[in-house]
Order: sequence, then C-alpha cells, then structure tokens
Amino acid sequence: MYGADSCMADALLSLVDELRRATECTCTFGHEGAYQIFTILSDICKRKGHTEDVSLMRDLAPVLESQAICEEGRAIGRAVRQTLEHFAQEIEDHIGKKLCAAGSCRAFQTYHILVSKCIGCGDCLKACEDDAILGKPKFVHVVVQKNCTQCNKCLEVCPAGAVVTAGAQKPKTPPKPIPCKAK
Ligand code: SF4
Ligand code: SF4
Repeated sequence: MYGADSCMADALLSLVDELRRATECTCTFGHEGAYQIFTILSDICKRKGHTEDVSLMRDLAPVLESQAICEEGRAIGRAVRQTLEHFAQEIEDHIGKKLCAAGSCRAFQTYHILVSKCIGCGDCLKACEDDAILGKPKFVHVVVQKNCTQCNKCLEVCPAGAVVTAGAQKPKTPPKPIPCKAK
C-alpha cells in the first residue's frame, strides 16, 4: 500500500521491475520500452536522473500502453502514465532539487548526529573514510554533508545510537562540534 510517506519514484520503480520480471515477452515495446523505463527510474532513485527523464517517460508510456503485445508491458505504460499525471513534480524534484520528499530513496538520505545522544567517543570519526565527520573527544560530532557518501559506516559503529538518517525533515544539529551533554 502506498501512503503519504511513500516515494512515488521508488514505488513506480518497484512496480515496473515486478511487471518486467513477470513477462517473458520480447516484443520491442514490452521488452525494450520496459527496460528503458526501468533504467530511467533506477537512475532517478539513485540520484543520477537527467532533466529530460520525465518527458522521456511521458513519451514512452502511451506507446507501451498501446503497442506492447503483453499485458505486463501495457500495464507498465499505464502505471507510468497515471503516476506522471499525479506525481510528476515529486519525481522531478529527485532530479532538479535532489530531493526525495518521502525520504525513502536511500541515495537522498542525509546522515546526522543527535546532540541528545552523542557521547563524543570518536568511533564514527575513525570509521568515516570520506572526511565527512568533525569532532574531538567528549564533543558532539558533526557530519559534513558535502563530503558524506552515505556509506552508513558511522551509523553502524556508533555505540550510542546517535547517528540517524533523514529525508526531507532534518533534525536540528550544530554546525560545528560542541561539548557533549549525553553521558
Ligand atoms: S555515512 Fe559514511 S561518509 Fe557519511 S558521515 Fe557516515 S561514515 Fe562518513
Ligand atoms: S556519533 Fe556515536 S560514534 Fe560518533 S562520537 Fe557520537 S557517540 Fe561516538
């Protein structure tokens, strides 16, 4: 089920993937068209979308819907057309604003260190290979967003549960390390 916190780009990608795996059809539109749409959506969800992607899908969808031989191919065309009718802006934002409003596409998530939980142990700083964490002992550490590659290592090593990921709503964190309050 899709709810308010569902990402429509990600949801459409999953549906297209499911439908293209379900068919053995090799017709040009059902097979190649579906592959093209799948590739475009995958790139969008990986933060690698291009400005022309949405209009390309808008052109491809009705062709699949009317020309694919298999039902799955036609269903892909229909799903893409209907999704773009209602959620084109949300999908466009992944490309133009580098934003996944629902916060579900992993490539768009940001990492943050909570002041209320960080004990300043330095484990995340040691684990980060991208120079994306600032800190010193007993200070709340801070993620430098422009350097972060979303590798997840800081979150895995933190013994205090102080590292969190966020989508559109970001937790408030200091711009530079401050003395720890958490023990
Ligand atoms: S997610 Fe990876 S790159 Fe980003 S701050 Fe954590 S360890 Fe560093
Ligand atoms: S975020 Fe976690 S691992 Fe990093 S200094 Fe704070 S408590 Fe230690």
